[in-house]
Amino acid sequence: MNNNFLEIKNVDFKIGNKTKVKNVTFSIENEGDIICLLGPSGIGKTTILRTIAGLENIDKGSIILKGKTLSSEKIRIEPENRNISLSFQENSLFPHYSIKKNILLGADRNKAIKKQKITFDDLVDFLNISEILNKYPHEVSAGEAQRASLARSLITQPDLLLLDEPLSNVDQSFKEEIQEKLKKLLKDLKITTIIVTHDSYEAFYLGSKCGIILDQELKQFDDPYNVYHLPNSIEVVNFLNRGTLIPAEVTSPKSLENKDLGTITGNFVKSFPIGSKVKLLVQPEDLHHDDKSNLKFHIIDRKFRGTNFIYTLKTPSDTIIPVLVHSHHIHQHEVDEKFGIKRPIHIDHIVCF
Ligand code: ADP
Ligand code: MG
Repeated sequence: MNNNFLEIKNVDFKIGNKTKVKNVTFSIENEGDIICLLGPSGIGKTTILRTIAGLENIDKGSIILKGKTLSSEKIRIEPENRNISLSFQENSLFPHYSIKKNILLGADRNKAIKKQKITFDDLVDFLNISEILNKYPHEVSAGEAQRASLARSLITQPDLLLLDEPLSNVDQSFKEEIQEKLKKLLKDLKITTIIVTHDSYEAFYLGSKCGIILDQELKQFDDPYNVYHLPNSIEVVNFLNRGTLIPAEVTSPKSLENKDLGTITGNFVKSFPIGSKVKLLVQPEDLHHDDKSNLKFHIIDRKFRGTNFIYTLKTPSDTIIPVLVHSHHIHQHEVDEKFGIKRPIHIDHIVCF
């Protein structure tokens, strides 16, 4: 028996009798860890949270929190006896109570159980909701309602907090600030949390581990760095939608060859026999721009991302390659111009499929 804080073992997550995500296994090692679940809409993320909260049953596998089985084929602990707080994706505030009353309901629920480590005033301040406390749910914006439900969940100080796309309606300009504060608060209070999000950067920032759910499976459950740099499947690459897969041939234990790029050296994450025809992952950071290089490709698109540009290049064999360039780079290259790639090409982690 190991001592993981939360264990999900071989669980089929279902709604009614329809299985949505199959044979899921992952764990949260320590109290206070934050993990994030990412996946396309409709894949079953909300179903997973509802099941952990006890709102859906399972008939395969088990869910164990702090050594106690909450759900299995035979066991079903009622939601109110789990000390798990689920903050719903949709606004779940009570319409006939003010925002203040809504938040305090969370505090009342937990008063007898725990000494309050965070006060109502702290939360109001943190989430910047002092202006709306006396309003009713229908009188506030979607983003404000989301922040109020977040306050209500946080004030309960559960053993496990489940947040379903908690910031999806929060304005971009305010989002980063809330993400920073939320992370600090969860860490300070040591609240173990599972956050479902659409936003991979949010997941990479908040989670010590990220789970990627695709095709009815938890495809990868790993450090954010690994999910991004060492994706374990083509599906994960396509979902994160940052790199491109180009055909290449393995020419030595540390090199491969692509028709357009020539020789590429680096360290293979997984080794392949010499001569293997593979798909090589090229991410925007992997290639470097060089105006003086004679290896030049056509620019077909350019996206300005503030601190950088992502140029989309097309090679003579019609391969599309993204290249990131710092936006302070002196020249800006226009669509239809040629764009130089620095040689020799070296990619630290070579990921192939
Ligand atoms: P996600 O949160 O990843 O968007 P959900 O867990 O909400 O996905 O839903 C997974 C799938 O189950 C979707 O195809 C959705 O249409 C379906 N679904 C959701 N709720 C119900 C329900 N109460 N009855 C039947 N099907 C449902
Ligand atoms: Mg959902």
